[in-house]
Formats: sequence, C-alpha cells, structure tokens
Amino acid sequence: MTEAHVILHTQGLSKQFQGFRAVGSVDLRVVEGTVHALVGPNGAGKTTLFNLLTGFLKPSAGRIVFDGHNVTSAPPERIARLGIARSFQVTTLFPQMSAREHAELALQAGTGLSRQWWRSEKRMRRFTPRALELLDEVGLAALAEQPSGSLPYGRKRSLELALAIALDPKLLLLDEPTAGMGLEDVDRTVALIDRIRAGRTVVMVEHNMSVVGSLADTVTVLQRGDVLAEGPYDEVRSDPRVVEAYLGA
Ligand code: ADP
Repeated sequence: MTEAHVILHTQGLSKQFQGFRAVGSVDLRVVEGTVHALVGPNGAGKTTLFNLLTGFLKPSAGRIVFDGHNVTSAPPERIARLGIARSFQVTTLFPQMSAREHAELALQAGTGLSRQWWRSEKRMRRFTPRALELLDEVGLAALAEQPSGSLPYGRKRSLELALAIALDPKLLLLDEPTAGMGLEDVDRTVALIDRIRAGRTVVMVEHNMSVVGSLADTVTVLQRGDVLAEGPYDEVRSDPRVVEAYLGA
C-alpha cells in the first residue's frame, strides 16, 4: 500500500489579532489529489486560515509546509510561484474588460513581464489561444468577448475559476465557490469544480453541505479557531459534536 502524499501540512498554526485567537492551533493535512472542505460557522477562522496559507497574513505561531517547502511567513508572490492559487469570494473583475482579456492577463502574469508589456495588445495576443482554451474549460467560450461586467453572476464566478487555474496551480483554494448562487448555477459549478479538480488538489471553504457532500473527500470542521472534527463527509456529518455545533438544523 502506498502512503498518501500530504501536499499541504500545517502544524500548530495560529493567528491572534490583538490577543484575540482567530485561529487556535491548527494541524491540517491535505492529501494530494483530493478535495478538502473547510466548514464551520461564521467566525470559525476559515478566511483567516486561507489568508495564512496564501501569505496575506503572517501566523502568530506554527508552521506551513507546502509541497516540501517551508512557506511559513513567506510572501504571497513566493507562495503563488510555488503553485498555490486562490479564487476570491468577492468579485475582483474589471467590468469593461472581456472574459478573454482577463484570461490573457492572468496567463501573462505567470511570465513575470511588466505592466507596460501587457499593455501592448499585440503582445497580449500571444496568450489568446490558451486564454480561449481556458474559457472553454469553464464553459465560457461563447461569452469570451463580453465585458465581464455584463456577465450574469454565476458566469462571473466561472471566470474567476478560470483565472485561478490559468497558471495551472498544484493547489487551488476556493473561497465559497457557490455563495449567492441559485440551484442551477450551484449544479453547474459543482460539475465544473469536479472537472477542474483533475490533476490538482483543492481546499474549499463552503457553506452549502450538499456541495461539500458532492465534492469533498475530506472535511475539516472548524469552530472558534480550532479543529472540531475531521474525516470523510458522512462520518463528520453524523459526528454528534458537529451536529450540535453546526449542522444541527
Ligand atoms: P470565518 O471565515 O470562518 O467566518 P474569519 O477567519 O473571518 O472567520 O474570522 C475569525 C475571527 O477572527 C472572527 O471572530 C473575526 O471577527 C476575527 N478577525 C478576522 N480578521 C480580523 C482582523 N483583521 N482583526 C481582528 N479580528 C479579526
């Protein structure tokens, strides 16, 4: 039997804000190739944990190892270069720019070229074929030339997923990928995540338990900054502590 490869490992990871413990002492082991969901009530520390993993916040204590690299307190650019990408919950698109232009911009970001450089339309065209492939992957081929501001909400979220996978990250962090969506968009997004997870590892903050049940191999439940329970969805869902703390209704 081969042992599962842990691609992301935190040990005693904690973050305090002026003495307030937002993340307690979290030991997280994310196995390569899996979808790992982080759930928990508001204020449980999920966003803070994401910010620690991506280098947007520096931990108060503990260690983060990603793919064999100690990335504790590493700057966001280094973490991104090592292969962690994040999709945000809040939309960060430029409304006048088309879906294709967003994808081209995301692709050129990986080349380390200057801002001046990407302003040259002709040079950006080098990225067009891959940009269109990327949009096709998330079901946006027909909407490639539309200004992103005119896309329906669910499609904007798909575009954000495309941008997050543009540089082919090893680990994809998804912050509430189905938040605010109607049933149809939720189903489409679940199918989409199921497709783009191939060959990747996904850590996902998600409130919708049916989405968690459909996608996640492992679920970690956080409560007030600590891990309350961890395991396969069915096991965690029926854990009495979890039922009481979060899934009760
Ligand atoms: P979740 O994403 O699970 O809702 P958060 O990580 O956003 O939880 O927040 C965890 C706790 O840390 C909350 O009580 C929140 O108020 C607090 N918190 C988050 N960010 C800050 C900050 N920058 N300064 C002070 N307190 C914060």
